[in-house]
Amino acid sequence: MEERFDAIVVGGGLAGLAAAYTLAENGKEVLVIERGDYSGAKNVTGGRIYMNPIRDLFPDLWKKAPLERAITHEEVSILDKTRSITVRYSGEELAQEPYQSYSVLRGRFDRYFAKRAERKGAMIVTKTRVDDLIIEKGKVDGVIAAGDELRADVVIACDGVLSFTAEKAGLRKPGKPKDHAVGFKEVIELDSDIIENRFNLEANQGAARLYMGEVTQGKFGGGFLYTNKESLSLGIVVGIQALMEEEPRIAAPDMLDLFKQRPEVACLIKDGQTVEYSAHVIPEGGYNSLTKLYGNGILVAGDAAGFSMNIGVTVRGMEYAMASGYYAAQAVLQAQNRQDYSAAALSVYEQLLNDSFVMKDFKTFQNAPEALDHKRFFTHYPKLAGDIMQELYYVPAGPKQRIYPSIKKHLPFKELWAMLKDFRKVKKL
Ligand SMILES: Cc1cc2nc3c(=O)[nH]c(=O)nc-3n(C[C@H](O)[C@H](O)[C@H](O)COP(=O)(O)OP(=O)(O)OC[C@H]3O[C@@H](n4cnc5c(N)ncnc54)[C@H](O)[C@@H]3O)c2cc1C
Repeated sequence: MEERFDAIVVGGGLAGLAAAYTLAENGKEVLVIERGDYSGAKNVTGGRIYMNPIRDLFPDLWKKAPLERAITHEEVSILDKTRSITVRYSGEELAQEPYQSYSVLRGRFDRYFAKRAERKGAMIVTKTRVDDLIIEKGKVDGVIAAGDELRADVVIACDGVLSFTAEKAGLRKPGKPKDHAVGFKEVIELDSDIIENRFNLEANQGAARLYMGEVTQGKFGGGFLYTNKESLSLGIVVGIQALMEEEPRIAAPDMLDLFKQRPEVACLIKDGQTVEYSAHVIPEGGYNSLTKLYGNGILVAGDAAGFSMNIGVTVRGMEYAMASGYYAAQAVLQAQNRQDYSAAALSVYEQLLNDSFVMKDFKTFQNAPEALDHKRFFTHYPKLAGDIMQELYYVPAGPKQRIYPSIKKHLPFKELWAMLKDFRKVKKL
């Protein structure tokens, strides 16, 4: 007799593993199909996971999880061509358990998560690509992988940002450049004591640094640096449309090379050994570019649905992936109780997401992509801020001017008016 699963999950990243873990925990027969050599092999992140929204969804997962460092120090730098301004924040609440966020390496974390899902009873097949969906009488009834037909009551599409599965099911249209960014990242090995000295950290404490402005040559995006136990994750994220259309024309990998040469960064990565290089697309269109989340016999979770969000000071996708996987599994459990896998029955998934932080965040920040995608934030303000700081700190050979007029000359009425208009954009955040 043909084997039939309760659910087949396409993609063994965080969304897929969260769905499988939750279904297996509830005694369901679930198969995960992952094309990489192992979970984590093909998965890219900047490297920081926020714990508060997901801690309670997976209470047994965290104790032994291979998280890197608790992030206790935050920094944001605005880079002009040759100058930079940095704001550093080290709040008491960041340095206390339960920690708000950790740096993480996906090669380790996803592998661990996959083992935990297997221990709960999930079946995970790696090195296998899903090539097609089986659709019968308008309902998704399984997948075709490695020439085999595999049947299930529900398929959960967790195959990442360019989700072929969601597209095939008619839930997603091909992505537009304006709704996507591309990230390039290196993992640079350094001894833990060097990391702690350079970033002023206690053992196990970690630092997060974000950079904007010249790092992306004034294009929409930014740079990031996270400290791991014995390495740094350094990278850039830049809007694909800006990369394609805006001057100066420069390839994103060249941007990363220039970023590494900046004195603010070069001193931090000095003598480090690059041990990993990766690139990946990120959905950044927000609420208005989410896919349809369910169809007959299918649900979509994680990046496949568009659940990744950049609001400037935070880039978040991992916990949305894990939470949406969790809620997809909950929807399957409810559908199974009623033995109804129609789109109408599976629409409970959207309801669960609407009631959770996931959709609430996406609705709250639905104007973020439009508010942040503004050239002046990445070119004009870094230069203006640098010019003002230079005036403040400069001591000439002759007498120094009063401070107020030196600053005011950078802020004529025209500039203040333009700032006011920009502020109205930021208000939408
Ligand atoms: C450079 C960069 C920096 C980021 N920084 C952060 C950050 O600091 N914090 C944060 O929270 N988020 C960050 N994100 C976003 C975050 O990494 C993603 O939102 C998250 O990885 C999404 O998880 P996922 O499981 O949905 O997708 P993925 O991790 O992409 O997993 C999809 C899986 O599906 C598999 N797959 C695809 N097609 C098939 C197929 N046909 N058959 C079988 N398997 C298939 C893939 O191999 C992959 O394992 C960043 C992303 C990038 C690229």
